[in-house]
Order: sequence, then structure tokens, then C-alpha cells
Amino acid sequence: MKDVAIVGLGCAAYTAAVYTARYKLDTVLIGEVEGGMGMSAAEVGNWPGNIDISGPDLMENYKNHALSFENVEHKVGRVEKVEKTDEGFLLTMQNSDTLEARTVIFATGSNKRHLGIPGEEEFSGKGVTYCATCDAFFYRGKDVAVLGGGDSAVEGAAIAAQVANKVYLVHRKDTFRAEPYWVDKVNEKDNVEFVLNTNAIEVIGDQKVTGLKLDTPWNGSDTLNVDGVFIEIGSIPAVSLPKNIGCTLDDRGHILVDDAMKTSIQGVFAAGDVSSGSNHFAQFATAAGEGSVAANSVFNYLQAGE
Ligand code: NDP
Repeated sequence: MKDVAIVGLGCAAYTAAVYTARYKLDTVLIGEVEGGMGMSAAEVGNWPGNIDISGPDLMENYKNHALSFENVEHKVGRVEKVEKTDEGFLLTMQNSDTLEARTVIFATGSNKRHLGIPGEEEFSGKGVTYCATCDAFFYRGKDVAVLGGGDSAVEGAAIAAQVANKVYLVHRKDTFRAEPYWVDKVNEKDNVEFVLNTNAIEVIGDQKVTGLKLDTPWNGSDTLNVDGVFIEIGSIPAVSLPKNIGCTLDDRGHILVDDAMKTSIQGVFAAGDVSSGSNHFAQFATAAGEGSVAANSVFNYLQAGE
């Protein structure tokens, strides 16, 4: 029986593990994707103490820190089910392994939102991808479109512009919600064209993507001729496990937490992008903060013998 099972392998999870380890709690970290969404950040310029570090390097640092403690076990695999027991919680993995823990922290993060337009699924992996910063490298010298107006899209367009011939940044509004830092970065690139107040309505192609149809003609054509379409329109919190165990969600579909990162289920806590905390501001800094608070709450909960 572990003191705490932390489900997830992203920033919130690793931070929580550093804290639970130092509270001398027997900890298991379990998740499917090492590094989580943080792996897709090409450049993290807002992690205090590091002026510039890549997402994968930062995640490697988190992981090494968490695993430097003897009382932290690291398991890579998919958790299929979490159930309440008399003593705590039973977690069942995809390979049917089980483990028990007195408390659970869900730090399951989020999954990229799909647009749901014709051709999107058909050409997924054949020119349509959901991580511009990860995949831009494969489009050296080609023309690509990045969809969205948040940090992921605008950062993605700036990174893609370093290798692609031309980048169309297609956004449904005429203003970006991305940090002005990233907007300035794309403005500096002379191979990025802004296609604003425009929605993508179909991905077209043959074996691979050849174009993107728009609802509003741009430069006299309703089709952008591109080899790649990077869809960066936000994420959906990964709540299936917490939902199954009865955790209340907020109106945006995140696990509802209080200031102590407690969920509606006793002994269950949440942190990071999956939680309703930090005003839904999904950042490395907020995920780390929430992970530390969740760990402190687990410690208090176990101390109180609730
Ligand atoms: P966001 O939710 O911030 O932005 C999503 C964007 O996609 C918005 O511009 C939105 O448009 C648009 N959009 C949503 N749905 C649709 C749709 N159906 N059709 C067309 N457009 C759509 O998601 P991000 O992934 O950009 O960012 C998520 C979080 O991660 C944020 O907190 C962000 O700050 C953080 N992040 C931080 C980074 C960093 O610091 N290096 C890098 C990447 C992300 P509209 O604006 O009209 O709503």
C-alpha cells in the first residue's frame, strides 16, 4: 500500500512527487506519456530561474529530480481504472497489474482538441498534426498552415517559420490570445502570413495533405496550398479516470478543486491542466504550484488520519 499514487508524468505530477518524497511519503508516479504536454514546448521563457530552456530539457530535469528520491517509484503505463476501497484506492493498469494507495493525485493533463472538419482524421499523420513545434522540422522548405490564436499556435507558427518556406497562421478572430512575446516573434518573420477572421473547413489531399479549404477566400482563393496542417486550437482536460470515480467537474470540464487542490472525493486531489485551479491558466509555473499544494494536502490528510 503506497501513501500516494500520482497519476500523470507531467510538470504537476513530478513536482507533487518531489514534495511527497520530502514529506517521506511512499510515492508512486504512474503515467502513459513521460513529460506530458510540456514536451511540446520548443522554448520555455517563463519558467523562473531559467531564462530559456526547452520543454523536453525542463521535463527531463523534473523527472530526474523526482526520481532522485528512493521513496518515489516510477511506472510508465496506462492506468485503466481507479476504484475506492476501504483502505484507499485500487489502481488497475492496462496490463492488468494493480496497485493500492491511500490517496490519489490526478495530474493527468489534457489532450489536444480536434477541429472536426472533413479530411482531418483521414489525413491525421499524413500532413495533419497537433503539435507544430514537434513536427515543423519535417516540413523544411514546405508550405504549412497553423490553426489557432493561442500560445500553442503562435509559438508553433514562429518555430515552423524557422524551417518552412511559408507559414499561414489561420485564426478565426483578428486578435490573438497568445502572449504578446510570441505575437512579436511571428511578426518578425517575413515568411508568416496572417489569415484572420477565417475558419478552416476541410483538409484536402490525395495520399497526403495538399491543401486547406477556408470559409472566406484569401487572396482570391478558398484553398491554401499546403503540405502540412498543424491544428493548435487548445486542449481538453483528461478527466475520464476522475470522472469514473465520481469527482465533480466544473463548467469547463476540469476537475473541480478547492484552494487545497482537494476534489469532491475524500483522499483524491488534482493538480495541473486537468484541475479547475489557477484560474485555468495552464502554465509550467501554475502546474508546479498546484502539484506542490496537492502534495502538502496529501501530507496533511494522512497526518490527520482522515
Ligand atoms: P488556448 O485555449 O489558449 O487557445 C486556443 C486557440 O484556438 C484560441 O485562439 C481559440 O480561438 C482557437 N480555437 C479554439 N477552438 C477553435 C475552433 N473550434 N475553431 C477555430 N479556432 C479555435 O490553447 P493553447 O493550446 O494555445 O494554450 C493552452 C495553454 O497552454 C494556455 O494556458 C497557454 O498559455 C499554454 N501554453 C504556454 C506555452 C508557453 O508558455 N511556452 C506554449 C503553449 C501553450 P479564440 O481565441 O477565438 O477563442
